[in-house]
Amino acid sequence: MSAPIETSDSQYKSFQGCQRKWAYTKILKLTEDSNRDSMHLGNAAHDGMEEYIKSRSMEKAINCALTALNRDKPTNLEYQKLLVPSMLIGWANHFLPSFEQEYQYIALEQWFTSCPNPEIVRIRGFKDAVVLKRQTNARCVFDYKTASLAYSRDLIATLASNNQLARYATAERREFGSWVSEVGLIFLFKPTAKDPAIAIQNARSDPSLYRLVVQQVTPQFAQYALDVERNDVVMAAQMRHYRDQILLRGPVACEDIPANLDNCYNYGTMCGFAAGCHSGNPIHRTLPQKAV
Ligand code: SF4
Repeated sequence: MSAPIETSDSQYKSFQGCQRKWAYTKILKLTEDSNRDSMHLGNAAHDGMEEYIKSRSMEKAINCALTALNRDKPTNLEYQKLLVPSMLIGWANHFLPSFEQEYQYIALEQWFTSCPNPEIVRIRGFKDAVVLKRQTNARCVFDYKTASLAYSRDLIATLASNNQLARYATAERREFGSWVSEVGLIFLFKPTAKDPAIAIQNARSDPSLYRLVVQQVTPQFAQYALDVERNDVVMAAQMRHYRDQILLRGPVACEDIPANLDNCYNYGTMCGFAAGCHSGNPIHRTLPQKAV
């Protein structure tokens, strides 16, 4: 029996989008030839928000975000060095006060491991914000999103079937023996103005760019979360099989892992492996064919 596979919400998302892409990035550890600016912006904003909630110092929060940007070096570094501090100031002024009237932070970036079937899978990840609802003292878990408006709209429209929130709910239930009361997403929308100076100004001054959307953990949502967890074990068994095949046979095993050519272009971004897949010479065929 091979070792259980360690996976995460983002790995499940990747696997559901294109199983071969998941194998490239997670098992073969190939780096996508793609623009990661949005991811770097999100990481810097996350670091800044976490620091602000801990220290209540905007100066420290901005320094923290700038440190992340200088480390990650997005291609539009100078723009992000102006935009992210404005987003932090906008979030602290327009979102945080009303949020903290309703909720009290109890943990940030809390690491979790959930084992719905320990022989097959360990699901790991971070809960961005664990809070208590002041009125009821009930535990809730929220995730920060610094997403584009188009992607955010889709996330909001499909909140009741959000697998990441479902995984938070079942992980909490496994750890504490009861369901959380609410799960949800805290959005820092990226300003859409084409003029960078106006976008930076809007991030600081437009309250509509900051929003919480809440999913109550009703019996229906709890049932949905349990269904997601059951399906996660099935997917993990498939992931484990692919991992073992690649370890045994090398990159050639990717020939047996389905490529989803309908998933190559998403929200304005082309998959970083598209050049190979779309020219009929996918990247795994160009690698040394030996066991990994
Ligand atoms: S280009 Fe398309 S088919 Fe190829 S790995 Fe990416 S998503 Fe999958």
